[in-house]
Amino acid sequence: MRTPETDTDKTIASTDIDDTNRLDGTGKLNSTGKLDDAGKLDDAWILDRRPPRNQVDPYIPYAFLVEQEHAPSRKLEDVATLFLTNSECPFRCLMCDLWKNTLETPTPPGAIPHQIRHALDQLPPAPNIKLYNSGNFFDNRAVPPEDDAEIISLVADFNTVIVEAHPRMVGDRYQKYADTLNADLHVAMGLETVHPAILEKLNKRMTLHQYENATRTILDIGGSVRSFILLRPPFMTESEGVEWCGKSVRFAFDIGVECCAIIPTRAGNGAMEALALQGHFTPPTLASLEDAFDDALNLRKGRVFVDLWDVHHLYPDAPNKDQRIARLTRMNLSQSIEPRITSCEIQ
Ligand code: SF4
Repeated sequence: MRTPETDTDKTIASTDIDDTNRLDGTGKLNSTGKLDDAGKLDDAWILDRRPPRNQVDPYIPYAFLVEQEHAPSRKLEDVATLFLTNSECPFRCLMCDLWKNTLETPTPPGAIPHQIRHALDQLPPAPNIKLYNSGNFFDNRAVPPEDDAEIISLVADFNTVIVEAHPRMVGDRYQKYADTLNADLHVAMGLETVHPAILEKLNKRMTLHQYENATRTILDIGGSVRSFILLRPPFMTESEGVEWCGKSVRFAFDIGVECCAIIPTRAGNGAMEALALQGHFTPPTLASLEDAFDDALNLRKGRVFVDLWDVHHLYPDAPNKDQRIARLTRMNLSQSIEPRITSCEIQ
């Protein structure tokens, strides 16, 4: 059984996060169970509500597959997608459940190259690779720097390498990868929402200014940015969820982001269930996901995907669910808006 508070302190202390904008984390639910005036939810509140994490092996990725994606070239290309097992991200975002498949200890040196070899030995060849590590690829505790040379060598034949990072951890190590890799380096960063008050409540410890600066750093070195954007995070109504998703997509494209991935906000990490009980969180409807996707694609500013992971379970009772999800799947691949599925067409 883990001991969250102790681990949290160790994890955060082990990283080189610029903490100048760290939230003070004073917010709690008050005695009536409602959010207090400050409305902030701190690390301890979030950690206290966590269910147990999954057992993972530091030498095996917790998942890996080849998926097709609409590439920047506008063609469909295969992407080897590795979900690396590594030390937990030092941030404690309110909606995050990625910690479930992470380690409570630093990743052992050599484990990440071993995982990459393990997956690539079993996957069919692909021209592109995602190294998603449930956090920050440039976090020394998650991906030991002594493994950098071997990792770079293992992905040397790929055209594109996509990693994920928190904007505050885009720095010298990103530069090193960008300088050394032959491949195009794409960085996926959670923008979440441009709603300033709700972004702060998400405990992301990031300002929009920091996001923009990190994007500029990546673009200046020749990389690309993919933004993760939440559809209806906590504390929003359904219509606000769609409205602020659209604003967030526009902000991302305006600062030079090349690709936006819209994620319907889900429960599953304990904190979100607690907020749902208090009336502060309801997942977005399938109709809102369709609206947000149509709106973002219609901008024609860059690639847009919607995250369809587990979406059948998210919308068990939605009318014409299978046909509507199939439409979204095709639109992810084509990047073209199809006519909406209506009840009349199905009958
Ligand atoms: S930065 Fe990303 S991985 Fe880390 S807690 Fe936030 S959402 Fe989760």
